[in-house]
Amino acid sequence: MCIFCKIANGEIPNNTVLETEHYLAFHDIYPKAPIHILIIPKQHVDSFQEATPDMMAGLTTFTQKVASLVGLDQAGYRLITNNGDDGGQEIHHLHFHLLGGGKLKWDHLHEDTHRSI
Ligand code: AMP
Ligand code: ZN
Repeated sequence: MCIFCKIANGEIPNNTVLETEHYLAFHDIYPKAPIHILIIPKQHVDSFQEATPDMMAGLTTFTQKVASLVGLDQAGYRLITNNGDDGGQEIHHLHFHLLGGGKLKWDHLHEDTHRSI
């Protein structure tokens, strides 16, 4: 069983923000922004590439509620899912990173995108 399945079933503790029958939102242990929350479906799928429209429909409302709950709905936030090796995905259970709590940078994501001015 993968680490996020173990978090979803309570085997591994987490710092929960919001939980429903099908979804869980919890704080990332290595936050990359003042607010960094992971949002997962409890049902295991490896990545966004395997996500179903049903799963994504529920996740939309759930994510909006999480953003409101932590006060990011007005200020703004970034929602990211890393997909596969080139996408930088380390944990192969679909998750969305909800990042905010300050003005986020939009940095070079690949060395080939660096340009000198
Ligand atoms: P990714 O690289 O997109 O697969 O993201 C995995 C994320 O999971 C990283 O931001 C990690 O900091 C985070 N993470 C790993 N283990 C845990 C854990 N036990 N509890 C909370 N976050 C975790
Ligand atoms: Zn899993």
